[in-house]
Amino acid sequence: MGENIKPGSNGNGNGHHHDGEGWSEPRLDLSTHVAVVTGGFRGIGRATSIMLAREGARAVGVVDMAPELGEFCTEANRRLGRDAFVPFNGDVTDAAFRRHVFTSMEKSHGPVSICIPAAGITRDRLAVRVLKESGDVDIYPESDWERVIAVDLTAPVYWGLETIASVARTRGKAGLKRWDPSENVQGCVVFIGSVSSSGNRGQVSYATAKAGLEGAQGTLAAEGVYHGVRCAIIHPGYTDTAMVRALGDEFIRQNIIPQTQLRRLIKPEEIANAILFLIRNPAISGQLWADAGWHPVA
Ligand code: NDP
Repeated sequence: MGENIKPGSNGNGNGHHHDGEGWSEPRLDLSTHVAVVTGGFRGIGRATSIMLAREGARAVGVVDMAPELGEFCTEANRRLGRDAFVPFNGDVTDAAFRRHVFTSMEKSHGPVSICIPAAGITRDRLAVRVLKESGDVDIYPESDWERVIAVDLTAPVYWGLETIASVARTRGKAGLKRWDPSENVQGCVVFIGSVSSSGNRGQVSYATAKAGLEGAQGTLAAEGVYHGVRCAIIHPGYTDTAMVRALGDEFIRQNIIPQTQLRRLIKPEEIANAILFLIRNPAISGQLWADAGWHPVA
């Protein structure tokens, strides 16, 4: 594990924050919040879990299917110096597993109020393809379509709904109704979209799922604020993770790097940092493009 897990090591403390000019804003105090990050063992989810814990989140439920997840959390807790990382091995599309994660986190650390449903998959293929040998034409397999929509669209929306429900239940028990600004923000859901949400060759299922998250984000932002929960979506460009590395170095060098302004892949930590910004700054709503100048070609 090469990551820097030391608390507060990027200079962003918690709670009330004074920034030059005497400006002080009551930003979200992570130490009063319990988070869940799906796809937390690898890539963007992993960087986000680490950043949330390092910045003081009370606990981070790290959800993934990787068998090494438990080991990762044990080592991360040791480095952090407190038991913040809680591993949950399972499939994000399993509703019973999802409910187990939320009830278990609530029991051990308190109700979940921050969620980054980052688990994602691709099943890339041309939507309609002419087979070289036979000349036959075939279309994108429905089984791939269904799996991508289940993992990349339905699951993130339901993990987000579960988070809003968890805050709504807690506030309901306290006799609170419509959220009032005097309470401060009660929680936040950040979906992971993609530059592919505007359409990308070979990604009919993935692009549809990511575009679908925009509709969910807009709706949950409007509904969630009744309970004091914000909802945002980040659209990362090509980021240096297993998902992108699977495309192969040659493909990345020829087809991706030339179209980015940075002329490199984005680092998962750069996306995690932008997610943290979305969580902390209540003035930001809607979408944030973190695409390093990537413009998908038509
Ligand atoms: P990675 O493949 O590096 O990590 C994704 C993680 O999600 C893996 O640990 C994977 O586990 C886990 N996962 C996948 N399916 C499930 C499931 N059904 N249940 C539980 N865990 C699951 O991906 P990235 O970090 O690159 O991607 C994170 C998110 O960011 C995704 O939503 C992706 O679409 C999005 N994104 C990524 C971009 C990029 O360039 N990398 C750009 C734009 C968006 P395992 O590997 O063990 O199966």
